[in-house]
Amino acid sequence: MEAQGTFYRDTWVEVDLDSIRKNVAAVKKHVPKEINVIAVVKANAYGHGDVQVAQAALEAGAVYLAVAFLDEAIALRNKGITAPILVLGASRPEDVRTAADKHITLTVFQQEWLQEAQKYLSDSDRLLLHIKVDSGMGRIGVRSSEELTAIEQFVSRDKRLVFEGIFTHFATADELDTTYFNQQLAFFEKMLGQLSQRPQYVHTSNSAATIRFKKAYFNTIRLGIAMYGLTPSLEMEKEIPFPLHEAFSLKTRLVNVKKLHKGDKVSYGATYESQGDEWIGTLPIGYADGWIRKLSGQEVLVGGVRAPIVGRICMDQCMVRLPEYFPRGTEVTLIGTQGNQFISVNEIAAKLETINYEVPCIIAARVPRIYKKDGKIVAINNYLLNS
Ligand SMILES: *Cc1c(COP(=O)(O)O)cnc(C)c1O
Repeated sequence: MEAQGTFYRDTWVEVDLDSIRKNVAAVKKHVPKEINVIAVVKANAYGHGDVQVAQAALEAGAVYLAVAFLDEAIALRNKGITAPILVLGASRPEDVRTAADKHITLTVFQQEWLQEAQKYLSDSDRLLLHIKVDSGMGRIGVRSSEELTAIEQFVSRDKRLVFEGIFTHFATADELDTTYFNQQLAFFEKMLGQLSQRPQYVHTSNSAATIRFKKAYFNTIRLGIAMYGLTPSLEMEKEIPFPLHEAFSLKTRLVNVKKLHKGDKVSYGATYESQGDEWIGTLPIGYADGWIRKLSGQEVLVGGVRAPIVGRICMDQCMVRLPEYFPRGTEVTLIGTQGNQFISVNEIAAKLETINYEVPCIIAARVPRIYKKDGKIVAINNYLLNS
């Protein structure tokens, strides 16, 4: 077995944990000090690395973690995280025993789910629950006060079930037009008014709402994209009153450098043709790493200057046209800073015609992650060699 923290490949992600801490601290400063911060670390912390980001966020003052699925919560427990964890998505009733054993909080929004879940709990189990309200996202959650009351009463009759929180999710918090946001907020407030008892945690705001709407804090916020240093949307970028620090960089090295002559071709389909003498470098990253074919033409940073990807991106490799000769082993930045140049996650998202959220998420687990704190490497995660 290989030592964890080793990798044998010239492509890696660098995650700056200081940026994560700074972003959490900036958000904590932006909200009143009694507001609890839930750090959203679903999808392997948006591709950054679940346990490292969770630890950095907790150090910076987050008190709760949130993931999408029970497996993600269990993975954090297995890596030694003891902080409370909320599963935001739907879980299966037959898995409540596992959740209770591991002190993992589940989201509930169906009475019949609770009825079934009861069968799987023993007398001594305690299952923490947050009720989800669908105030207009149209995804999961109770949509009427009758459903909410039924669930609240059901939970209050079973001492194994603990009503710890209630929440909703906004569909348009990152859009400048606030009409729909206000409708959702009013609906949620009406639903809160139906409760016979307010639970410990009441939360509605994602990053966008946290940055923009004090009136939607209740007592807890859910911080995702801004913790990673990314803007919730381009539309609201100008409304962010503090700097965000991007935590995610993607780097590789030239593994082959050659001079092509006029008419020489590059990659599948032989679609790229050298216009004269050109230095072409090969990068060991391709679409299987999430560096997908649509990124052909995207620039990378070599020697502090921009160089375009030429020809089709292959499964594991792609080629760049260099401004001059560079030796094999030269570091290349695909996302991040090199010298005084910067390729942002937003730039890659624009090229892919998508949102910045998607970019770190699609950089495959095959790419090892290096974690830096105070400029020093503190951990390396190579998913391939972990087990
Ligand atoms: C992903 C998610 C968040 C985090 O949203 P950001 O826009 O990344 O801050 C918050 N709440 C729920 C329910 C989510 O699914």
